[in-house]
Amino acid sequence: MRSFLDLHGAGVAECADDAEGELLARVRAVVGPEMIIIATLDLHANVTERMLALTNAMTAYRTYPHVDMRETGVRAGRHACAADERWPAAGRCMPSACRSSCRSTPSAR
Ligand SMILES: [Zn+2]
Repeated sequence: MRSFLDLHGAGVAECADDAEGELLARVRAVVGPEMIIIATLDLHANVTERMLALTNAMTAYRTYPHVDMRETGVRAGRHACAADERWPAAGRCMPSACRSSCRSTPSAR
């Protein structure tokens, strides 16, 4: 199984110094350790060790303004497509749209 989160990466919260890390911790607590979590971020994200530990992969926009949303989503999808090889303990539930996308695009960067 895979989950995808479109995060900002530089969020601020009164109750947490690391807002996205806190969000990811709460998501991880719900979905469990086996779920593949892939996130996209703004290019000015403040990536923390906690965020790295709680996700399987993250990728960021490369443009400002963020006109590369599609390309960033494709990169995130490539990570999802590669999940079976990278994280074999995860369940093998691959949507057909993802499979066809992997076949028609270059390998993940
Ligand atoms: Zn931004």
